[in-house]
Amino acid sequence: MSTHHPFVDGEPHAGSGEEAPIHNPATGEQIGSVSRADRADVGRAVEIARHRFDEGIWRKAPVRRRRDVLRAIADLIRADQERLAGLESANAGKPITAARGEIGAVATTFDYYAGAVDKFHGQTIPGNANGTLMTFREPIGVCAAITPWNFPMLILGWKVAPALAMGNSIVVKPAELTPLTALALAELALQAGLPPGVLNVVTGRGSEAGEALVRHPDVRKISFTGSTVVGAGVMAAAAPDIKRVSLELGGKSAGIVFADTDLDTCVESSIFAVYDNAGQDCCARSRLLVEESIADEFVGRFVERAGALMIGDTADETTEMGPLITPAQRESVERYIQLGIDEGAKLVCGGERVGQVGNFLSPAVFTDAGSEMKIVQEEIFGPVVAVSTFANEDEAMELANDSIYGLSGSIWTRDIGRALRVARGMETGMLSINSSSSVHIEAPFGGVKASGIGREQGMAALEHYSEYKSVFIAND
Ligand code: NAD
Repeated sequence: MSTHHPFVDGEPHAGSGEEAPIHNPATGEQIGSVSRADRADVGRAVEIARHRFDEGIWRKAPVRRRRDVLRAIADLIRADQERLAGLESANAGKPITAARGEIGAVATTFDYYAGAVDKFHGQTIPGNANGTLMTFREPIGVCAAITPWNFPMLILGWKVAPALAMGNSIVVKPAELTPLTALALAELALQAGLPPGVLNVVTGRGSEAGEALVRHPDVRKISFTGSTVVGAGVMAAAAPDIKRVSLELGGKSAGIVFADTDLDTCVESSIFAVYDNAGQDCCARSRLLVEESIADEFVGRFVERAGALMIGDTADETTEMGPLITPAQRESVERYIQLGIDEGAKLVCGGERVGQVGNFLSPAVFTDAGSEMKIVQEEIFGPVVAVSTFANEDEAMELANDSIYGLSGSIWTRDIGRALRVARGMETGMLSINSSSSVHIEAPFGGVKASGIGREQGMAALEHYSEYKSVFIAND
């Protein structure tokens, strides 16, 4: 069983903190261990990153070199897809087919930003003065990337690729539970020709390594994905130094189902919008709002399909749903299920432990869910959906917006006029109409309200990893 270490300046360095075991959530088995970086280790990683940035070996590299390195990273990820998918599946408890898809998407992310490096630039601007006005897009400096355990490599790719495209240096703090693919990415990037010390990974606790990174004066930008509570703390810790911050936080997204929808497609798609990644998905449509006239039929079909989901062995190609990440996460979800019952919602199916090993829980469906209930308002982060009904379009929109969150959502209807009216009225960062798809590398990804600030993916991400510099040149 191997021990993994923080990766700094192009090589592994044992962390000065304690060694922590890493488990497979599907079997409970220990699959390795990782040495944790302490505050001093994080300080050294930031110093190296800062030194490499000041030295300019990456920042000043010709854009074609940056493009080639990013493309080489994409190629190496693709060539290594099976190993990486195996690591992600074993470390995060993902069905192998889902893990393969995520690794493929990481390669696509690097491809996209390889193509973007020479298409994002400053401008010359007409001005009144006797001279020329122009802007440059400058890299920011050392960027911190802090990631959660639910999509470890995918979310990391959304941060690292645009940050590198703009010429920044990076220090990554992966989630304690899932550091393996972040370490693998740093090694592949080095093989692809990224200079050592431009991309560093500090494994460790959020409260120690994460906190040290956020507070380090040489970190100029923090890109954080995780819970809303921790994100708010990160924002506060960044305030004294006026660090740039982007936050991708929690969600409680609504799927709105109108009576005229194609129910077959809607049910099949909504199942995966809730139970994909065992519900541990920030974009999960964990609130389903269904038009009264079809509620019984919809729930009947939904419950039947939920009951047929293939749960279990994550190495099996036919498995559709894996376990929760830890025993503690499963217990937290079980507490919410009991709370839903106590609050008066009706548990129609699921919520039971599955198998003797691993943190599996069967998909749960609540009906009669009222807006005031905690199971409707709070992010459960597990395989649980709360179904409510509505009488008309206005009520559907009101219910959908009755949330502190605003990350994603779906609208199901054949009436395109209504779909667009509801889409414009919904307080959310992303929406899909007659679909549950949330992630498109070409389009901005992120939320409003307590779901965060800033955007990842698309050209929008490059805005968050660069600064404008305006320059005036006098003509005489
Ligand atoms: P978390 O907030 O507990 O941890 C996220 C990361 O922050 C981890 O790396 C953790 O070590 C680190 N951290 C913890 N305390 C810290 C501190 N004081 N300073 C700096 N870093 C600290 O979240 P999690 O449990 O790993 O992930 C689940 C949450 O992430 C859910 O709320 C989910 O909705 C959210 N999420 C959001 C998105 C999105 O794009 N909006 C995507 C995935 C997950």
